[in-house]
Amino acid sequence: MFQDFDMNLEHIKNEISNCRKCSLWKTRTKTVSGGGNPNADILFIGEAPGRNEDLKGQPFVGRAGKVLDELLESIDLSRDEVFIANVLKCRPPNNRNPLETEIKKCTPYLTKQIEIIQPKIIVTLGSFATNFILDTYGLIKENISKIHGKKFEVNTLFGKLIIIPVFHPAVVTYDKNKMVEMKKDFKVISNYL
Ligand code: URA
Repeated sequence: MFQDFDMNLEHIKNEISNCRKCSLWKTRTKTVSGGGNPNADILFIGEAPGRNEDLKGQPFVGRAGKVLDELLESIDLSRDEVFIANVLKCRPPNNRNPLETEIKKCTPYLTKQIEIIQPKIIVTLGSFATNFILDTYGLIKENISKIHGKKFEVNTLFGKLIIIPVFHPAVVTYDKNKMVEMKKDFKVISNYL
């Protein structure tokens, strides 16, 4: 059946913008539902909005976003060819880690986004997104430092799905040497495009 991807994603975006399911609504400036190409074959999932994302309402527009852009460029991908979302749609105060309760309340939005976009590849950025996606598809959770750059394959209601965990781009802002490793992992992604 014909599906209007844009409209469905807009509907979720609207729901998210009014969300008060956890207490993060009290400290947020803007919600960050995600963005990019709704027909993308590849979905990137980060952790949660940071300061710049909270101000702009867009994912990965700060320093980690610059790193992500460089990584995308290294495999000839642009932002309009991919969709980018996060585990949490609101910024945790002072960029603290997402809480288990927040993840539980917020991830039904991400699940709906995945069902609408029906990506062929999901790239999880960092441990929070990786744990959520491995769990969702019945895979055993393992530390990101062990499984980054590895490929997992699962069958979903919308077909075969490839999952590739990578480090969170923010690690490069603390340790420039990590860029080399991340570029290697992105090469793995490009094998499946
Ligand atoms: N880090 C994330 O995980 N997501 C963003 O949108 C920005 C920084």
